[in-house]
Amino acid sequence: MKSLICEKCGSNDFFEKNSYRICKYCNTKYVLDADDAKPKSSSISLNNDIKMLLQKCRDDPANARRYANLILDIDSDNEEAKRYL
Ligand SMILES: [Zn+2]
Repeated sequence: MKSLICEKCGSNDFFEKNSYRICKYCNTKYVLDADDAKPKSSSISLNNDIKMLLQKCRDDPANARRYANLILDIDSDNEEAKRYL
């Protein structure tokens, strides 16, 4: 956990409740910088993987089928990948 200093009283004593970090001394609430952005970014990176694999299908037709299968592992409904099977 990152150490945090209360902006109001300078204390670094906090407790966590729900998704807040609360100063034990003055009760100032801070939103935890949660990792809740992670699921989103991982789906973006999957989309990037798919794009990259589709590009490989185009660049390397001899192995396109293999790349297409990898794409379909990630996204079994990918129409573009199905064309390479
Ligand atoms: Zn405080």
